Amino acid sequence: MDQEQCRRLDAADPLAGCRAAFELPPGVIYLDGNSLGPLSRSARQRLDLALGNEWAQGLILGWTESGWLEAPQRVGDRIGSLIGAARGQVVVSDNTTVNLYKLASAALTLRPDRRTVLIQDDDFPTDRFVAAGLAARSGGRVQVRHFRPDAMAGSLDAGTALVILSQVDYRTGRLHDMPSLTRTIHEVGALVLWDLSHSAGAVPVALDSSGVDLAAGCTYKFLNGGPGSPAYCYVARRLQSQVRSPIWSWLGHVEPFAFGPSYEPGPGPKSFITGTPGILGLAALEGALEAWRGVDLALLRQKSLDLAETFIALVEARCASAGLELLTPREPELRGSQVSWRHPGAQQIIAELIRRGVIGDFRPPDICRFGLTPLYLGFEDVWHAVEQLRSVLQSFAVGEPTTAVVPATP
Ligand SMILES: *Cc1c(COP(=O)(O)O)cnc(C)c1O
Repeated sequence: MDQEQCRRLDAADPLAGCRAAFELPPGVIYLDGNSLGPLSRSARQRLDLALGNEWAQGLILGWTESGWLEAPQRVGDRIGSLIGAARGQVVVSDNTTVNLYKLASAALTLRPDRRTVLIQDDDFPTDRFVAAGLAARSGGRVQVRHFRPDAMAGSLDAGTALVILSQVDYRTGRLHDMPSLTRTIHEVGALVLWDLSHSAGAVPVALDSSGVDLAAGCTYKFLNGGPGSPAYCYVARRLQSQVRSPIWSWLGHVEPFAFGPSYEPGPGPKSFITGTPGILGLAALEGALEAWRGVDLALLRQKSLDLAETFIALVEARCASAGLELLTPREPELRGSQVSWRHPGAQQIIAELIRRGVIGDFRPPDICRFGLTPLYLGFEDVWHAVEQLRSVLQSFAVGEPTTAVVPATP
């Protein structure tokens, strides 16, 4: 693999045109779209419209005339089309943490005779903390059990109420087999709540056909919704008459504008809308999703895998013996859309790369994480990124200290 081959891959890339949809700063190679996606032109336009026309001109009429009230469901359906969910099962609301809490809590009421919530012992902190928090306030009814990566099946039993699983591991980029794990969980009568934060917009997700019960995820990573853009929840159609959000809100009511005396939950996932939605955040997200219009998700997956193959091959050829250890599975079918390497100097490596315009991120204690986002990243970008990585590692090897500091990124 050389630079010329990377150029040829770019020339033959059917997704190369998507890059023009994004406002990326010149001179930057962005390998952190798995943490915060970049601004798209359509997000800026949609936000401008929400500000200048809908809010400034329409004022209160925006709720009805600009479709603000239906935005959580409308944008939810749009996300649904990217995660294999038919209409009427996804709403946009809150952040991922709150959605995980609402969904996990709702799931536990569906399995009142079971006590255990299972979660991987090194899953993303918020997922583990939400489970622990639910158990802590259950008065001893609920307990959390942790399993080692890839050892979920052995922990399942007749007492398992719910399993919380990240489809793609945020550190290693390991992709889990959603249909098969969902089936295994259902065999013991438990429910599953999938966290799609690192998989939506990164790998094909098929919630309906996998028989998934519940799912949640954020929109500011691969979906490019903007910093802190609202998250979403999915409630499978077959469960919708039973599953209720633990937060009873006026907008989740079947008839919010009746202002009635008692709570009656709205149909489907509507009850998971907690209150007045943040319209500006929703507008940016809705605009960002325009960049996905017409994108073939099978092509996206193929390019993501090809970018990763190229990246791994170039690093192994050009940074050999620099002490990098590949943390991401080598098998394509086990990979999400990021590649992570271990190195004792990971923090300085990332700091120095960022100083040179190659933006990845550091995860303690020793992980360099690089997101490979097919919509706006090319093969020659990967070539340049590896050249910078090679040069940084070489300068460390000859003892040149870096003064660059790695910023803390969520
Ligand atoms: C990014 C991420 C989150 C984010 O949670 P927020 O409440 O939106 O901050 C949650 N879970 C996983 C697995 C993530 O990767």
